[in-house]
This record gives sequence, C-alpha cells and structure tokens, in this order.
Amino acid sequence: MSDEESGRSAVRDWRAELGEEKVLVGKACAKRYGPNVTEYPQRRLVGALFPHDTRDVVQIVRIANEHRVPLYPVSRGCNWGLGSKQPPVDDCAIVDLSNMDRILGVDTDLHYAVVQPGVSQKALFQHLREHDIPLVLNVTGAGGQASVLGNALERGVGMLGQRHRDVRGLEVVLGTGEVLRTGSWGYTDEQDACSHHYPEGLGPDLMGLFMQSNLGIVTAAAVDLQPRQDVCLMLAEVSELNLSSVVDALARLRARQILRDRIEIMADDDPRLGSIVEQAGKARTWQVWVAMHGPESLLHPQRDLIEVAIGDFCQRLRFWREDDVAAEGWTGALGARFDLVQGRPSDYSIESMLRRYGADEAADADLDHEQDAPGFVCVLPAVPLQGAKFQAVVAVVDEVSRELGVDVFMSFASVSSTAAEGFIRVPFDRNDPRAVAIAHRWNQEIHTRLLCSGTVPLRVNIEQLPEVIASGGDTGWETVRAIKKALDPNDILAPGRYCPPS
Ligand SMILES: Cc1cc2nc3c(=O)[nH]c(=O)nc-3n(C[C@H](O)[C@H](O)[C@H](O)COP(=O)(O)OP(=O)(O)OC[C@H]3O[C@@H](n4cnc5c(N)ncnc54)[C@H](O)[C@@H]3O)c2cc1C
Repeated sequence: MSDEESGRSAVRDWRAELGEEKVLVGKACAKRYGPNVTEYPQRRLVGALFPHDTRDVVQIVRIANEHRVPLYPVSRGCNWGLGSKQPPVDDCAIVDLSNMDRILGVDTDLHYAVVQPGVSQKALFQHLREHDIPLVLNVTGAGGQASVLGNALERGVGMLGQRHRDVRGLEVVLGTGEVLRTGSWGYTDEQDACSHHYPEGLGPDLMGLFMQSNLGIVTAAAVDLQPRQDVCLMLAEVSELNLSSVVDALARLRARQILRDRIEIMADDDPRLGSIVEQAGKARTWQVWVAMHGPESLLHPQRDLIEVAIGDFCQRLRFWREDDVAAEGWTGALGARFDLVQGRPSDYSIESMLRRYGADEAADADLDHEQDAPGFVCVLPAVPLQGAKFQAVVAVVDEVSRELGVDVFMSFASVSSTAAEGFIRVPFDRNDPRAVAIAHRWNQEIHTRLLCSGTVPLRVNIEQLPEVIASGGDTGWETVRAIKKALDPNDILAPGRYCPPS
C-alpha cells in the first residue's frame, strides 16, 4: 500500500474511533500546521488529531501502528526557531495535545502540580493565583501560551533552572500503545495520586528516557513548584575584555552554591534589555543578570560575596529588590524580569523581539506567530561555563555572522555550575528568499563549526540531528536505537526526532 493510501485508511479509522471533530485534514490542516517562523519547508501532513484524554492517545497510536502512519506529538507547538509544529519528516499526522489542558491536581505541601500537556504557563499561573496557592512555576521567557510540559520534555531552560529537572513523574503512551507511569507513580491507578514525594521509585530511572526523545507521547506529568519568595536581582555591565574573568568568578560562586539560580549573560544589543542599556556608538558590553531568592538575612551576605568576586571587573553593578522597581514604575525590562523570576509568565521577551525586528506592535495581541512574526533562526549550544571556552564560542559566532553579513543576538543562561545554554539568533525578512537562505546558511555554519570544535548543541531544530549523529559519539545513538526498537517497534513516533532513523 502506498503512503497516501495508508494515510487515507488511518484517517478513516481515526474518524470512526475518535469522532469527526478530533481529526483535521487537507488544506485546513496544512494552513494551521505548515507556516513556521523559521521558514522550514512545509512537510506533507496526513492530518492532525486532537485527543481529549489518554484513552484517545492510546487509540491514535494503535491505529497508527495498524496503518504504519507516523505521529508527531506537540503539546502547544510553540517550539519557535526549532521547528514550531513541523515534524522532521513528511507524511506524519500531528498529535496536537492542546485540548488535553486539565490541571489534574496541586499538592501544596509537597509542592507539585499534575498537568496534562496542553496546560500553558499562563493557565497554571492563573490557577495558582485564583486558589491562593503560594507556589510558583519555573517559567520560561517563551510567554504565557507556551506549554508547561513540551518545554520541559525538550529540556528547555526556565528562570529557576533547566526544566526537565522539575519533572517528578510522567504518564506516557509508548509506541506499542502501552501506558507507562514512571517511578512511584506506577504503583497507583490515580492520575492525580500523591505519589510524587520520591520520583525515582525503585529500579532504573525511566524518566530521562522521555526527555528529548521520540519514545513515547507524554499524556500527563507531575511538575515541581517552588515556594514564592522574595527576590533580589543583580545587573552588571562587563566589558568584552573582562567577560572571561566574570564568567569564571560566577561559575565558582555557582559551584559553591552561593548562587543557586540562573545566571544570564546578554550582549548589550539584546532586545530584552530595552532601555536599561544605552548602546549608542560604544564598544559591545555584556549585561549579566543574576537572581537570588530568599529572605534579606540570606541575600545580604550573598550580595557582599558577589561584589567581592566580580566588583572589580564590572563597569556597573546594581542590585534591585522588588520594592525598588515598583517605586520606579513596573514597566519594561526590569519589571518583566521580576515577573519571570517570581514565576509570573510574561510575553515581554516575544514583544521586545517583535518590536526590534520591526513587526507591527499594534498586532501583538492577536499575532499568529507562525504566520505574521518576523523570521527567526537560532542555535542553542551547551557552552562550558569557563571564561576562555565561553569567549571562544562568542568568537565563532562573531566570525560567521561577519562573513555572512547578518545581525546576531547572543545570550547565555546557566543550566548548572558547569554549563550554559546559548540562545544565539538571527532575525530575517520572511518575504525575501535571499534573506531566508542566508539566515539558514548562518544557522548551519554556526552549528557545524561549533560541533567541529566540540561544542554539542543543547537542543536541535528538526533538520540538524543527522549531522550531530554523524559527528561521532560512541555507542550512545546505537543504544537509543535499540531502546526505540523495544518501545516503538514500528517507528511510529516522531521519526527523525532525537533518534537515528531505523
Ligand atoms: C522570544 C522567545 C523566547 C523564548 N524563551 C525561551 C526560554 O526562556 N526557555 C526555553 O527553554 N525556550 C524558550 N524559547 C523556545 C520555545 O519557544 C520554548 O521552548 C517553548 O516552550 C516550546 O513550545 P511548547 O512548550 O509549546 O512545546 P512543543 O512545541 O509542544 O514541543 C516541544 C518539543 O517536545 C515534543 N513534545 C511536546 N509535547 C510532547 C509530548 N506530550 N510527548 C512527547 N513529545 C512531546 C515536540 O515534538 C517538540 O519536539 C523561546 C522562543 C522565543 C521565540
């Protein structure tokens, strides 16, 4: 049977099993899932499926196996710059989980929430506020509509650390159609069961198998929440010459746990800095954000230690408490940053990017990102938190960007005491085929040159995995393939995403 015939048969069976309203095909489907902000060629789609619960997902996977039609799951599909809702290969059906948007429970004492994949950052924030629960989510800068779960599964980075570390348990539909609950969760039938005080359970820890992987469709997860606390924010201005010393000093503070949260280092032309930084005509500087949570008695000595460690290397060093910002007017970059570090999702990052790239501000509120936002490519390398190596990555980016004549924006957010994720990006005009080609070439060049110098990406877009796999490694990818064979023998789930082809 041809791919087309298999697709048609699968659609017929999905319609019969799920109901017409949960299956979308044809032009409407292509229009909804094809356009993407990076202008990746639009993949041919079999259709899109809208499950309402885990049972629907099990049926979707069963029928996909029967007809050998691959599936590509998205939680809310806001994976901008990495592929949005586009699968890596043609002839998939999208499993759009955005209708599975229930918050199944919040345990205030053990501070976690159990959520379905369609729950957005904004929805969870509002739930906590409406129920007066003094807990916060580790939010990302990707705005209110992005999902809690998709980002964590992709090992995204929030204001309080890398997000997969927040996950305490997963409910997963495997490629075989079986349902697995990881760790302690597997001992109970309840979806909102209070079994998440010790996520590992007994035996091998399976949770990591489903992060950056195509081994299952996650239908629910328990995610950590953190107590709401006072925050102090540091912003330092550092010259290019002193960048290396500051990175080393902050890494040491992080290793000694004097700093526990994210350190973020931005080139001074980053749109998110707004009017905090004057840029006119001076040499590039770097702006370093550090957030510290806790009571004043803890924050005071922390501030002193930071000043001793980096004070001499900074052109400017300032600490803010929330009250200071409220007094100065709760707007712009500073207000947005306090929102984020306090667990309040903010669209500021997206809005500032749109403004800088020349999008119509008036359209912001109703903007369909994939259709209307300016073009956007990014590379996300895992950069060592070591001054010299850090600057070597910056040098590669500068060199390629100069060669290709593009404006690049660079920032780096720590994910541990030893690594930071680079968020290195180029905007482009989507209506100019030459600009699109140059931006894609820039993306490819940076990716390749960093890979050659041993800097592996922290996340990849839907096209870059084959090069990473080909670049070496030991038996790691072979092992992934063997696990895939066991959990998804027909290669039904997201072929080409974080797993070598079978
Ligand atoms: C201005 C701007 C700011 C950004 N800020 C940040 C930031 O601060 N931190 C950050 O990490 N990213 C950031 N991003 C990148 C991206 O937008 C986010 O990671 C976003 O959260 C991803 O969208 P999503 O959560 O809807 O996940 P999705 O797009 O739904 O999914 C992401 C990936 O996970 C897979 N997946 C999703 N759900 C499931 C599931 N249930 N089962 C199995 N696989 C699944 C998908 O196939 C896909 O590969 C930013 C992007 C922009 C443009």
